[in-house]
Amino acid sequence: MSDHSSLAPVGSQSANPKLRPRLAIVGCGSSGLVTLKNARDQLPDWDIVCFEKSDRITGCWGNPSPGFVSTSTKYTTQFACYPLFDDGVSGDGVSDYRDFFCDGEYGEYLESFATAFSLHSSIQCQTQVDQIHYIESSQEWQLKTRCLKTTTSPQRTDIFQAVIICTGLAARARTIPPSGAQPADHTSPNPQTARVLHDTRQIDQIQNQTVVVIGGGESAVDFADRLSRPERNNRVYLSLKSGIRVSPRYHTIHGVPSDFLRNRLMLSIHPNLRNWIGERFVKARIRYSDTFRRWFPTRTEPPDQASDTQTDRERKKNEWALRLTRAAKDDLFNMFHNKSDRFLDSVAGDRISIIGPSADSLNTYFDFESERTREIHPDIVVPAIGYESCLHALTDSEIQLSDFYLGCCHRRFRNLFLVGFARPIIGNVPTISEMQAKLAVKLLSGACSLPADLSRQHDRDTTDQQTRFGKLNLAAIYPVEMIPYCDRLSRLIGDYPSIKRCGSIWAWFRVQLAASTTMHYELDDRTTRSRLSQAKVFMPPLFIVLLLMLKPVDWTYRLLRWRRKRTTRA
Ligand SMILES: Cc1cc2nc3c(=O)[nH]c(=O)nc-3n(C[C@H](O)[C@H](O)[C@H](O)COP(=O)(O)OP(=O)(O)OC[C@H]3O[C@@H](n4cnc5c(N)ncnc54)[C@H](O)[C@@H]3O)c2cc1C
Repeated sequence: MSDHSSLAPVGSQSANPKLRPRLAIVGCGSSGLVTLKNARDQLPDWDIVCFEKSDRITGCWGNPSPGFVSTSTKYTTQFACYPLFDDGVSGDGVSDYRDFFCDGEYGEYLESFATAFSLHSSIQCQTQVDQIHYIESSQEWQLKTRCLKTTTSPQRTDIFQAVIICTGLAARARTIPPSGAQPADHTSPNPQTARVLHDTRQIDQIQNQTVVVIGGGESAVDFADRLSRPERNNRVYLSLKSGIRVSPRYHTIHGVPSDFLRNRLMLSIHPNLRNWIGERFVKARIRYSDTFRRWFPTRTEPPDQASDTQTDRERKKNEWALRLTRAAKDDLFNMFHNKSDRFLDSVAGDRISIIGPSADSLNTYFDFESERTREIHPDIVVPAIGYESCLHALTDSEIQLSDFYLGCCHRRFRNLFLVGFARPIIGNVPTISEMQAKLAVKLLSGACSLPADLSRQHDRDTTDQQTRFGKLNLAAIYPVEMIPYCDRLSRLIGDYPSIKRCGSIWAWFRVQLAASTTMHYELDDRTTRSRLSQAKVFMPPLFIVLLLMLKPVDWTYRLLRWRRKRTTRA
């Protein structure tokens, strides 16, 4: 097995030095696009092609259902290399989602990104990569591709010196094992048996039905919410295996997007301490939401005075947020969280009933909080239990996610990378992909290198992942906390926002307090640097003081842990 760091850049080792080395980027959603942009900038001597099987370049999130609102803000989700949005809060903190990507806005952003950097000429749409295979003798990759424009196009085989896989985590919806339910589309009703709806594009056609949605992720909650709209007249249940973490898009503190309150000072506290405090803080924030609002009022007045019905609904909403949070127990910060303010509205309005997991068949469910079972007899069951990538199918199971250091660089093949397979517990996917793309491309160009003891580092990282995220399917996703993870990548890339790179202690301090974004790594760019020096600080001074007071406790805790680890190793 070869060691990454001791090898010359991949391009310089092409079998025929006269030929330009070739890079294949597989998939052209946000990950593929940002990888392509970086590759074209940094690898001028390479032939680069990006294959996309659909006829669009906006990936799975580019064209969502009408009324869609993203979970992360425009400001924090935009690529650091293409900033169009600033951190001014334009929403009213109650009902306005202008700070988030709504409907097809994210797709438009990606289109404008591709145009701004003239990426279209390197993208082959409607070309599916069927198989990726490693050729041991030449250390190259063989790709079998098929043009989908006509049904008669033959399969092509091409050789590439490097491959970056950007096919996304949401290639295929996971299905539930059959248990007394029939797969069918909703147009052939059978009142005796629950029917499993696999094609979720049909969600918006369902009316006058009893529906159970299974799952607690963003998709499940979104499906339940759409099904429960009053005009659809459905009876909707959401079946949860455990509690879920429900975060509002707009926080009760000053009504600013929750993203804007997370800063590097907060993230500098050890995760164990931070999560312990965070769990208590979340519960207090829900329980005493009125007090929070009084102490930290929104900058703009909410549109209307709340009526009695609204107050009652708010109370119910908080009750459910607390029950779901409590049921998540200690895992609150080690699980993906929902930005589901609208879903909680539907629960409070009795349009969605929360139930426990299915007991034996899809007609019997546990009550959410007790061990009792209840019969429901749904007409339709919608499984929304997550997605699967197509990594195994694409590589005939030759390539496993678990072999990629930091979910990005293959521990053995120095010319194979994944971009977009890290799933943030908190944060957003596109800007994490941008950091991974930067790393992959810089490794290919030889501008940076991986640690000399890569295998050992990878094993240690795997153990840490298992300890922290043991309950998640680590074979399918690489869960991360966005900024701490990006910090690790940035140290490899060489763009960690140190005091030196920030230019002054004052600028560095600003970076610690402003909303955390991956733009903090782009400090070589003068415009970004001056923009960051004016970045707004949304965290109230009281919290800044409390966090600063916590720092000595944090240092002591870290020292004790370090000493205990050393003793255990000895
Ligand atoms: C409705 C919706 C809303 C979302 N909202 C958010 C949000 O607010 N914040 C957030 O961070 N994340 C959000 N996500 C998650 C989203 O998956 C990621 O943010 C991001 O879009 C993933 O980009 P990607 O390029 O990695 O994958 P994708 O967008 O899935 O792109 C992968 C591309 O690869 C192509 N492809 C796959 N297989 C092949 C093949 N064999 N050959 C050729 N091409 C292939 C696909 O056609 C696709 O275009 C949302 C997802 C959805 C569906």
